[in-house]
Amino acid sequence: MPDDFADALQSLVIHGDLDWEHPEQDDTALAPAIYPASTYAARSAAEFAEMANTPRHPRYYTRYGNPTQERCERLIARLEKTEAALLLSSGMGAMSTTLLRFLRAGDHVVAQGAHYMGTARLLTDLLPGFGVQVSQVDQRDSGAFEAAVRENTRLIVVETPSNPTLALTDLAAVAACGKRHGILTLADNTFASPVNQCPRDSGIDLVLHSATKYLGGHSDLIAGVVCGDAALIEKIWERAIALGTNVSPFTAFLLLRGLRTLPLRVARQNENALALARFFEQHPAIERVHYPELESHPQHALFKRQMRRGGGVLSIEFAGGAKEGYAAARRFVASLKLARHAVSLGGVETLVVHAASMWEASLTPEQMQRAGITPSLVRIAAGLENAGDLCRDMEAALAASGRHENPD
Ligand SMILES: *Cc1c(COP(=O)(O)O)cnc(C)c1O
Repeated sequence: MPDDFADALQSLVIHGDLDWEHPEQDDTALAPAIYPASTYAARSAAEFAEMANTPRHPRYYTRYGNPTQERCERLIARLEKTEAALLLSSGMGAMSTTLLRFLRAGDHVVAQGAHYMGTARLLTDLLPGFGVQVSQVDQRDSGAFEAAVRENTRLIVVETPSNPTLALTDLAAVAACGKRHGILTLADNTFASPVNQCPRDSGIDLVLHSATKYLGGHSDLIAGVVCGDAALIEKIWERAIALGTNVSPFTAFLLLRGLRTLPLRVARQNENALALARFFEQHPAIERVHYPELESHPQHALFKRQMRRGGGVLSIEFAGGAKEGYAAARRFVASLKLARHAVSLGGVETLVVHAASMWEASLTPEQMQRAGITPSLVRIAAGLENAGDLCRDMEAALAASGRHENPD
């Protein structure tokens, strides 16, 4: 099935890092230059004053910005339909810098029950230690965000689809709640990527990514980005230069190279994930498949309103009791030959993780339950391989895991 929307973005990712308002300033080299310089010399006292006093100057001191970074940010802002973007050291660098910019002691945040584990740790460990109150609500209940708002609520943080159960959050409902109460809204759009979902279209203020995942797309860099109105992004930048969460010029170069193929890659990952979801849905060893594009997803109607396609990540739960399901899931991930057994997602290769093995040492059973991590849950992040090869690899690993030979 051709993906017209992804295809339409393909011209933007090839040319959208250029300065269309001032084309004479663009470098004519087709590949962007990497400037490793940490600092830049002024040619006059006046020029130095200008460099030092212009926010986000790309040629002053690299903790403040860099020309390669600026090109990459221009493209990501256009993809997310925002005025500006700020590239940071990692997804967590983007999240921590943003939270620490807009929150202070006495403030309150509304967030989801299920968040990326790093974000969950910031919400439950770091913020309360700084005197910030946090309420976590069931993201599938859009009224729950409104109900949790207090007089001192400053920020609503969401993430959709969520990790690892692919539960959705109603972005338009959250944005409307934020607007009614004058509260800033922040959406982690990592799992969907801008190809499948633009939170800005729903009225969300700030859009964040772990650029390590789909934006970079090759499992070879760590970076993060936050996008929004220029005035808000400048405020986050002021915090970033104090916290030192800046990105390296080399990473900005690699990220820009990855972005050139983002729509092509994500269109393929959407197809592969849907093929895998349909394959697992009909397999007797698998009890549940979590993927928003499946008609069986409990929030499929919301999926149709808010997402273009289901994205590259799905998760499955094995049939059988907790103990057997746990063992079957571990045998399954260990038996895969083509898909690799590794954390992360969004790269060209299919990656698979058994969530309980990943978290059992660091999370309490209640925390696991809140995050939706059942003993047999396996997360699959589709890569760009041939879909038939992937399904055959999964089929063989299911056979090796022994479950479908004795379904109970
Ligand atoms: C990976 C990830 C992060 C953290 O990003 P890093 O680049 O690893 O710091 C944040 N949110 C989501 C949804 C992620 O998948």
